[in-house]
Amino acid sequence: MAISLHPSIYNGITPASANFAGGTLRCHCPNNKVVVRVDSQSAHNHACGCSKCWKPGGAKFSVVAVVPRDHVHVVEHGEKLYVVDPSAAIQRHACRECGVHMFGRIENKEHPFYGLDFIHTELSDDFGWSAPEFAAFVSSLIEQGTPPAEMGAIRGRLKELGLEPYDCLSPPLMDAIATHVAKASGKLAA
Ligand SMILES: [Zn+2]
Ligand SMILES: [Zn+2]
Repeated sequence: MAISLHPSIYNGITPASANFAGGTLRCHCPNNKVVVRVDSQSAHNHACGCSKCWKPGGAKFSVVAVVPRDHVHVVEHGEKLYVVDPSAAIQRHACRECGVHMFGRIENKEHPFYGLDFIHTELSDDFGWSAPEFAAFVSSLIEQGTPPAEMGAIRGRLKELGLEPYDCLSPPLMDAIATHVAKASGKLAA
C-alpha cells in the first residue's frame, strides 16, 4: 500500500490542462460555504510539510500553490473568514467553522513573494489546475510527530511520484528569495 501523503497525490499526479484559467474554491462546511473565485491558473504548486499550511484530515502534507492576489476574490460568506496568525508572514484566511484555509496573503510589500496568494486547489471541483512539482519542508514532518525512521519511505514515495523532496523550498524558489534579498541590499543590481 502506498504511503498516504495527501489524497490528491495518493494515486499519482494529475497534469494541468492547457488554457486553464482558474476556478472556484469552497470550504468544507456542509452549508453556507465560504466561496473564493480565482481568475488565474496556479503556479509553483507543491506538497508542503510545514506545520502552518492547512492539511486535510490524516494527510502528512498540504498541497499549496500561488496565484496573483488581484485574481483572488471572496464571493460568498467572507464573514466567516479570520486570519489564523496575524503575526505570520503569510496571513492565512481560514473558515472559522470548518478550519479550512481559503487563501494565504502576504501584506508586507518587501516580502519576496508579495503579490502572490497561496491557495489549495483541492478545494476546487474545477479540473486543470497546475500540478504539484516538488515537495517542500519535508523534514518538518518530524517536528509534527512523524518518527525519523519513516522519513526514508516518505522521501522515497515522493520521488516515485516525481516530487523531488526538499527541506526548504525548491532551488528556483530559494534562488528567487535570495535574488530579492540581494537586490534589496544592493549586492545585485535591481
Ligand atoms: Zn467552512
Ligand atoms: Zn507549508
